[in-house]
Amino acid sequence: AKADGRGAFHFFERAMDEELQARRALELDLRRALTAGEFQLYYQPLYHLGDDRVTGCEALLRWNHPDRGMVSPADFIPIAEEIGLIVQLGEWVLRQACAEAATWPDHVRLAVNLSPAQFRDRALVSTVVSALAVSGLPAQRLELEITESVLLQDNVANMSMLHDLKALGVRISMDDFGTGYSSLSYLRSFPFDKIKIDQTFVRDILEDSDAMAIIKAVLDLGSSLGIVTTAEGVETVEQLNALRDQGCAEIQGYFISRPAPASEIARLLGVEARD
Ligand code: C2E
Ligand code: CA
Ligand code: CA
Ligand code: CA
Repeated sequence: AKADGRGAFHFFERAMDEELQARRALELDLRRALTAGEFQLYYQPLYHLGDDRVTGCEALLRWNHPDRGMVSPADFIPIAEEIGLIVQLGEWVLRQACAEAATWPDHVRLAVNLSPAQFRDRALVSTVVSALAVSGLPAQRLELEITESVLLQDNVANMSMLHDLKALGVRISMDDFGTGYSSLSYLRSFPFDKIKIDQTFVRDILEDSDAMAIIKAVLDLGSSLGIVTTAEGVETVEQLNALRDQGCAEIQGYFISRPAPASEIARLLGVEARD
């Protein structure tokens, strides 16, 4: 019995070692990938229901790995955050996205996701200023998407950084609205320009009257506060129609378009792709 116990322990220890090693390898691989140019941005259109046209595109990061193919951001962004690589990676995203979006028509905005960890970098504001200046993209055409975790715990430093960003003329959107614990109180603490209703609500609007009731309430809230409301994850024409009936101004989702490489998006927007 004693020998068995030890054997099990060693087995467990070895499994832990292997997990740790796999994790280390992934960390090294991530750092390497940035210099090797393996990251790429896809863009997903934001569609204005009143204007009946694309009025923006959200940049979504992809890792084009030589052996593993396209790796989803859900699988590597949390690690990039933990090892502090998100600051460099986020700067690359901003510069690349601004450069690509500068070639789009004037009415098409660019939305970029900011991770809470990027707010630990004091240079964030000057990075945004520089990305805009170098690309020539007007500040008014940039939307920065944040989740409520940026505002957690009355974070004074983050809040002042958000105000500095807004003072540049860029727009600030609250992403994944409704999934956190106190989304409502955050709407009071900062003048957001846009609320993005999380796709978990949109997914169920036709089957679940509660999901629909929540969407209606958020649309009302947005219009009372003078904030644009975007519904994420619209996959069917039935969902689109239901949202239009409720007065939703903007939608995003596979029904309009899946995220696509810059060249495809340029074609969709009717502009010459740059290579
Ligand atoms: P998100 O910001 O909420 O982005 C929307 C996600 O929903 C994207 O997943 C998009 O591909 C997916 N999506 C869009 N329309 C539909 C639909 O109709 N149905 C379904 N089922 N899904 C839809 P993606 O590209 O895998 O990105 C996942 C998350 O990774 C993003 O969620 C965002 O939080 C993060 N992320 C992506 N790019 C960046 C980045 O450059 N920086 C940071 N910090 N985070 C990023
Ligand atoms: Ca987003
Ligand atoms: Ca979202
Ligand atoms: Ca999300």
